[in-house]
Amino acid sequence: MGRFMKPLTLSRLSTPLLSFFLLMQTQSLIAESLPIIDTHIHYSHDTWDMLPPEKAVQVLKDAGLKKAFVSSSSDKGTQLLYQAAPDLIVPVLRPYRKRGELSTWFKDETVIDLLEQKLAQNTYAGIGEFHIFGDDANLPVMRALVRLAAQYKIFLHAHSDAEAVRNLFAQDPNARILWAHSGFERPEVIDEMLASYPNLSTDLAFRYEHASNGTVEQDWLNLFNKYPLRFMIGTDTYAPERWYYVIDHADWSRDWLNSLPETLRTNIAYKNAHALASWALKNKDY
Ligand SMILES: [Zn+2]
Repeated sequence: MGRFMKPLTLSRLSTPLLSFFLLMQTQSLIAESLPIIDTHIHYSHDTWDMLPPEKAVQVLKDAGLKKAFVSSSSDKGTQLLYQAAPDLIVPVLRPYRKRGELSTWFKDETVIDLLEQKLAQNTYAGIGEFHIFGDDANLPVMRALVRLAAQYKIFLHAHSDAEAVRNLFAQDPNARILWAHSGFERPEVIDEMLASYPNLSTDLAFRYEHASNGTVEQDWLNLFNKYPLRFMIGTDTYAPERWYYVIDHADWSRDWLNSLPETLRTNIAYKNAHALASWALKNKDY
């Protein structure tokens, strides 16, 4: 893939943004050609203030992303990015209206109405990323999310421990779950979960321990070989500053992905995510 940089209009940018975009230019020149789908991007209200949609789309393109799964608090950020680049953005519906609701949302029944309304209005590939742990996954609001995902045939992006994931699959064994950060669980637990639940996939956001110096650690390599269709790349731009790392993260991911055999490399880089997005979006009426 050739990388043709459009000259940036820098004159109207503030100094921190200016250095950011200069860094982006430098980074993108060294970016390699392996396409990546980043399954863990957020574009929340404090981010779109800092980085308007066209600039955010440019960051994703400069990172060499084929697609980005995007969710935001509120959903407005996702819609703004989707309108700016419908071919690049895979919209995911977050049940949060603003930052700071991650430990309260599942007790707020008005969230159900909000999601029903959004799902009727817009196209989404999934619901998430939401935070739910242990028995809280059996509360009524979470149960409603599982039902809505089944109704719309879309996936759930769950930032959860293994127990919560078990609870979600107990509610709907046919649910498709993308397990954010691979649950921050140990490889043995991830192994056990992937063996138990064929519809469980995982993202690698913030699991930096799986790879170093361009190679994959042996316990993770075993997992990747055992479940070649179940792992995906994720950066997690949970705060505005994280957008500064999207390009670096893609380059760092290419480093260790390049140490894998081709089929496994392209599966984890983008094919697994592409399969999940295609499954979800082809079932939508739009
Ligand atoms: Zn996240």
